[in-house]
Amino acid sequence: MIYLDNAATTKLDTECLQAMLPYFQENYGNPGGLYSLGAKSKKAIQTARRQIAQALDCEMDEIYFTSGGTESDNWAIRMGALASQEKGKHLITSAMEHHGALHCFRELEKQGFRVTYLQPDEEGILSAKKVQEAIRPDTVLISIMYANNEIGTIQPIEEIGRLAKEKGILFHTDAVQAFGHLPISAKREAFDFLSASAHKFYGPKGIGFLYIRKSIAIPNLLLGGNQESGHRPGTENVPAIVGMGVAARVSMEKMEERGQKESLLRDYLIQQMENNIPGCTLTGARTNRLPNHASFVIPGIEGESLLVMLDMKGICASSGSACTVGSKEPSHVLMAINRTPEEAKGSLRLTLSYEITEDEIRETVLIIAQIVGQLRKMSGYK
Ligand code: PLP
Repeated sequence: MIYLDNAATTKLDTECLQAMLPYFQENYGNPGGLYSLGAKSKKAIQTARRQIAQALDCEMDEIYFTSGGTESDNWAIRMGALASQEKGKHLITSAMEHHGALHCFRELEKQGFRVTYLQPDEEGILSAKKVQEAIRPDTVLISIMYANNEIGTIQPIEEIGRLAKEKGILFHTDAVQAFGHLPISAKREAFDFLSASAHKFYGPKGIGFLYIRKSIAIPNLLLGGNQESGHRPGTENVPAIVGMGVAARVSMEKMEERGQKESLLRDYLIQQMENNIPGCTLTGARTNRLPNHASFVIPGIEGESLLVMLDMKGICASSGSACTVGSKEPSHVLMAINRTPEEAKGSLRLTLSYEITEDEIRETVLIIAQIVGQLRKMSGYK
């Protein structure tokens, strides 16, 4: 098998698995328990919190564990907006956010908020200037993703953060695709909230975190017990939290080495695709993109047929976001960067891990070229 869908999810690192295992059967105590079995779990949670705080260059008490990216986005955006509505009801986001964020804005519109959905340029970049122009006296929250899941483009988060801070506007960034892959610092960058999800950086699924800057108070998404200082109640998923802590530490230690290898192979993959598949074009920015991310549109094919045929050859790939599979609508991200619905039909996303080899990439491109040839022949595309 050649796995090229690491933006959808990654394989758990063996070191994470080893660290998690004792917390299923040996150290299974509830962290709230007043006995040593509970204390072991509580200590493991604090270790993970420290590992994540170090990775994000922030304080430990600014990290709140959640069930993943979707929950973190919901908490920051919905509760951030509600907390500020006395000051104003205008919100700014981009038209290419993940649905975990976008659907929160649609919901807030129903509750009387007004939302500006900014269009990025054709590479998917949203300039700070464009954000600045959209700011109004009643703007209370801006949410712009760190890097896009479908086209890999990285946004100027530091600049946008500075702008939001100057104007006293809350700023959230969905860093689900970026955290663990790019160096991010809460001290250097002025975001107030940041969402991340462990399964995108070789940790377990169903666990993530929301960074909340210490000076910011927002209402809780859930109500219940005292876990996470009462802000995110519910018995902690201890093995998953432990796994995410280790995944964060390993990602930081190996970021440079992994990133260098991945970006070289990403560029090789892009070049091979462009050279071997007539008409194939890159979507998103060429250099300002995630190190492991390549995405294309290929005219004359249906992305879904290509994926099925790739699967029969043992290759896992995607045509966009894992969350929109089965949707008949063209990708909102490709629409936002001015691609046509026709182009969007032939989209292909290939996302690498640090384990991928040059031989696997060469083999993948050869197979894609063969399948594209067959599909084009069947559809009569010239
Ligand atoms: N945000 C982005 C940019 C994503 O890519 C994803 C998942 O693909 C999410 C949010 C949702 O994360 P999760 O699956 O952990 O809820």
